[in-house]
Amino acid sequence: AYVNGCYKNMRDASVNIEDRGFQFADGVYEVCEIRGGRIVDLPRHLGRLQHSLSELRIALPMALPALSVIMHEVVRRNRVNYGIVYLQITRGVARRDHGFPAASVPPSVVVSARSLNFAKNQNTAAHGIKVITYPENRWPRVDIKSVALLPNVLAKQAAREAGAYEAWYVDVDGFVTEGSSSNAWIITHDGVLVTRAATDAILSGITRAVLIDALATMQLTLEQRPFTPQEAIQAAEAFVTASSQIVMPVVMIDGKAIADGIPGRITRKLREEFHRFALFS
Ligand code: PMP
Repeated sequence: AYVNGCYKNMRDASVNIEDRGFQFADGVYEVCEIRGGRIVDLPRHLGRLQHSLSELRIALPMALPALSVIMHEVVRRNRVNYGIVYLQITRGVARRDHGFPAASVPPSVVVSARSLNFAKNQNTAAHGIKVITYPENRWPRVDIKSVALLPNVLAKQAAREAGAYEAWYVDVDGFVTEGSSSNAWIITHDGVLVTRAATDAILSGITRAVLIDALATMQLTLEQRPFTPQEAIQAAEAFVTASSQIVMPVVMIDGKAIADGIPGRITRKLREEFHRFALFS
């Protein structure tokens, strides 16, 4: 892992206990897919990183090309062919005090990478996943990819304990916002793809954005609007998107099967074709 200027073995890779990421979850992160040893859609991830940092007024600790070099180096040193690379930037190390530290305190930078089991991921996708619904209880700025993920941790654990893979947050108006670590999609019986518009109420997923661009080429229709769990259960297909899962079919919501309970045709096609539209570096 890369930790503030040094490459370290994972077991020695640690941060100071007064790091504001540790004390206050005062930091942001990105996760990119690695495929064939290359990083997928890195420029878009770095663009979102800049958004998260600027919304929290954390300085960019180095130029983006330098961050990119470090991320590639960590992938190379870990010999990851298929997996993920993780980047975290926090407001740095300072004596514990809620207000920002002096401007001279440099942000902390951590990068790690690990392999994922490709066959296992493909097998999960072949069967499709179950989701549960869960009351939206996050702050109103989830467009910022902050490391403050306690509500997401609890939602994911609730899903696991219910024998499901993901939790879909449902807002006070009864509409799905997104998953605890993914964006939520449905496909209507007319073949229209529906996903919520990227406002402050969801994280603007990179996989979501790449897929939206791809839909035009694939001559599929998109509606960016909220949908209810009821509409999702009655939909023709459903899926989630995230960098570590790409397009993952959803076959059951709150114990109710979607259509015939197997991954949908369009969903499978989107999963197969996604990387034609991705940028590798
Ligand atoms: N929403 C949330 C809350 C997430 O944590 C993630 C994945 N980090 C996503 C959506 C999907 O984003 P991306 O496609 O950029 O991985």
